[in-house]
Amino acid sequence: MPKLISTRTRIADLGKPRIIIIGGGFGGLEVAKRLRNAKVQTVLFDKYNHHCFQPLLYQVATSGLESGSIVFPFRKRFNDNDNFFFRLGEVTKINPSENYIETSIGGVRYDYLVVANGATTNFYGLQDVEANALQMKSIIDSIKLRNIIIRNFETALLSDDYELVNSLMDFVVVGGGPTGVELAGALAELKLNVFPKDYKELELDQMDIHLIEAGPRLLNGMSEKASSKALEYLEKMSVKVHLNCAVKSYDGYTIALSTGDTLISRTVIWAAGVKGQPIAGLRTDSLGRGGRIKVDQSNRVKGYENIFAIGDAAIMEGDTNFPGGHPQMAPPAMQQGRLVADNILRIINKKQIKPFHYKHNGAMATVGRNRAVVDMKSFKTQGFFAWFIWMFVHLISIIGFKNKFFVLFSWLWSYFSYDKSNRLIIARPKDGVQ
Ligand SMILES: Cc1cc2nc3c(=O)[nH]c(=O)nc-3n(C[C@H](O)[C@H](O)[C@H](O)COP(=O)(O)OP(=O)(O)OC[C@H]3O[C@@H](n4cnc5c(N)ncnc54)[C@H](O)[C@@H]3O)c2cc1C
Repeated sequence: MPKLISTRTRIADLGKPRIIIIGGGFGGLEVAKRLRNAKVQTVLFDKYNHHCFQPLLYQVATSGLESGSIVFPFRKRFNDNDNFFFRLGEVTKINPSENYIETSIGGVRYDYLVVANGATTNFYGLQDVEANALQMKSIIDSIKLRNIIIRNFETALLSDDYELVNSLMDFVVVGGGPTGVELAGALAELKLNVFPKDYKELELDQMDIHLIEAGPRLLNGMSEKASSKALEYLEKMSVKVHLNCAVKSYDGYTIALSTGDTLISRTVIWAAGVKGQPIAGLRTDSLGRGGRIKVDQSNRVKGYENIFAIGDAAIMEGDTNFPGGHPQMAPPAMQQGRLVADNILRIINKKQIKPFHYKHNGAMATVGRNRAVVDMKSFKTQGFFAWFIWMFVHLISIIGFKNKFFVLFSWLWSYFSYDKSNRLIIARPKDGVQ
């Protein structure tokens, strides 16, 4: 029987400059979109066959959205473009001296390379936390988290042991940034509106949601007003917020905190930071803070003429407004993706390349129904109007008309019914999935 694993990427040579993009996230996708009508061959490598809209992962994890409504297959996005090639494969090494990358499905040559492989969860060296906590970086993580949340409740109602039941019904979210705040709010909505109907045999007062933040306030990158409002909203929803408090260790059951206190929970979700996930082969001095690749003002990797890095993977020094690098958020990745695509075409056409100027339009986070905080460049708002802005911005950013429609429909359904209907456990540990 022939082997299924290919060692050849089988990418046709079109006789055009070949631009390889590593990663089809927010940044990589913009590069591919921008090159759509150019006389180049675009090759996108990704370890998944779809783009994932990460900002709404927490809604999949908390049963608010179907997983299919926040992902979009790359091939569908570009199937009308003969210059575009997608390969499902993980890039494992860059060989800059030969303009060559190695991947899980074989090697391939490039003329220009764009590294857009994003970031991974940063556990800051806490090995026991890494081994036992959950993260939320991919659609698989979200589905796994949803399975665990719902299964915890199914298991809890089988026991009379108070501590066991509590360990299953309590959730600890670590990190008071937008992801942590949004996830804690969504768990609180399950507690307030959904689980009381599903689990009448359980005492829902026993369900505690803890949000742990090492700094003195939530939403550190946003205004003081946004932080204090987010705290007020969460506390109203009975989330226990612990500020100036860091997680020291977690063995899968007991969480030791820097304050000397301990919490008991079988479900800790780590949303406390990200770091780069460098691909082997680049010069060691090209790596900067947080494992991000150092790039010049035009996102060119330091020391290389034809390699660029964008988004979460890259760190650009020299922007006086962002001395520590641009925020690891979707807008910088997308803006850099567009600029890099244009600059590669400029190089091909022997024109001067342009520097990157980040246009920061604002930041926002939602805590739940009618509650959000928005800091725009020209105004700040909280409450219902902010929640409306948050929904609008996310809706227009999701890829695909069908996805937009389903997300809007799910939100309207939840709003009027107070329900979150995707409370599905789609696998058993016996099936090899948690
Ligand atoms: C839970 C969560 C919530 C967030 N909420 C917000 C928000 O509300 N607003 C906001 O602006 N930002 C938010 N972010 C951050 C935002 O999603 C990132 O900043 C953004 O995705 C960065 O884009 P990127 O293109 O650099 O990387 P990504 O979008 O992460 O894309 C990287 C791609 O590379 C692929 N890849 C990785 N390694 C390899 C490899 N070796 N070979 C092949 N492919 C590879 C991955 O599969 C992925 O498709 C959130 C992030 C998370 C995790």
